[in-house]
Amino acid sequence: MMSMENNSIRKDFPALAQKVRGKRLVYLDSAATALKPQVVIDRISQFYSLETANVHRGAHYLADIATSRFEEVRGKVKDFIHARENEEIIFTAGATAALNLVAQTYARKNLKAGDEVLVTEMEHHANIVPWQIICEEKGAKLKVLPVDDRGDLVLSKLDELLTANTKIVSVTLVSNTLGTINDVKTIAQKTHARGAVLVVDGAQAVANIPVNVQELDADFFVFSSHKLFGPYGSGVLYGKRQLLEDMPPYQGGGSMISEVKFEKTTFNEVPYRFEAGTPHIEGVLALGAAIDYVNKLGFKNIQAHEQALLEYATAELKKIDGLKIYGESKHKAPIISFLVGKIHHSDLSQVLDQEGVAVRAGHHCTQPLMKRYGITGTVRASFSVFNDKADVDQLVAAVVKAKELLS
Ligand code: PMP
Repeated sequence: MMSMENNSIRKDFPALAQKVRGKRLVYLDSAATALKPQVVIDRISQFYSLETANVHRGAHYLADIATSRFEEVRGKVKDFIHARENEEIIFTAGATAALNLVAQTYARKNLKAGDEVLVTEMEHHANIVPWQIICEEKGAKLKVLPVDDRGDLVLSKLDELLTANTKIVSVTLVSNTLGTINDVKTIAQKTHARGAVLVVDGAQAVANIPVNVQELDADFFVFSSHKLFGPYGSGVLYGKRQLLEDMPPYQGGGSMISEVKFEKTTFNEVPYRFEAGTPHIEGVLALGAAIDYVNKLGFKNIQAHEQALLEYATAELKKIDGLKIYGESKHKAPIISFLVGKIHHSDLSQVLDQEGVAVRAGHHCTQPLMKRYGITGTVRASFSVFNDKADVDQLVAAVVKAKELLS
């Protein structure tokens, strides 16, 4: 049972059984990476212990099993984000790899000098730099939709920023720094009205809110397994079938070919065309286990629990004199970025760490957003299914102590 008072979900996560620095571990860094439930750890172990075999090359029992279980996860991901077909799901090394794939294939083919790519001021570096690289190469221009003081996108500026030259709009569904849940549906409508494609960065969304790529009308959608209670080096690119069909390959190698001749190679079908080489097999299998785990909890329960934690933590932190929260949108995932007076974010996080409270401190890979607010970093507390009221209380007590020590 997920509960603020007595959260038995904690037991699913072996890491939480340990003490750190002699204190109860309060893990408030799920926005950086999720802790792993035992079922995910067991799935990796099962593959290495009993099922090790390569996929898509099977001439024996274990290879057949590995291939069918690997492909089963493609279906699970399809259902999880409500894509239309399994072929729209490409396994990648993560959200970053997926965004680079779109930049180096779709954008490389479709961008020309004078074209424009629109991102927002709250994007993670992973959703800025790949576009900058390809824009520079093609002579295209990167434009930026601003963020307001509260942490919402200034959507009223969208009509002015979208032009006949806009070819790609790339926006995060949830801000990893501010917690803001963006109105991606509206952005999709306006983007498509201009004939551009919409890329949605779902890295920070998939563990907190249900995703329906068809409802959002995203042309591409990316996420990493590790923020969804899954393994590292594993992630997903969703793309609308027709767009994927028209895209040239990304990396060359095994599996992505149809026939190789020295004169000319032909390429495999979608999605295999974009999955060169031996994939991260246990990364995909354990992503399947992570999706099963989340489905079992249910997004209705997850959202109710996390919103209650967000509300309680926000109210308690605001009682601390001099504490300022960055990101106060009405639509927020359970992420709280804050500073206390003039205390440096790193000093603050060090004291929290001594108290057993794990947070992130820094720019959170959103340096342009930090510049927007005139700061160099924040302390970020991010909540998940296993957190409870006691975690919030330990956080607040630690911040009060840090303030006394450092002011
Ligand atoms: N986008 C957002 C919003 C993120 O929070 C992150 C991870 N911090 C990424 C992209 C990149 O994810 P990864 O490093 O797992 O590829």
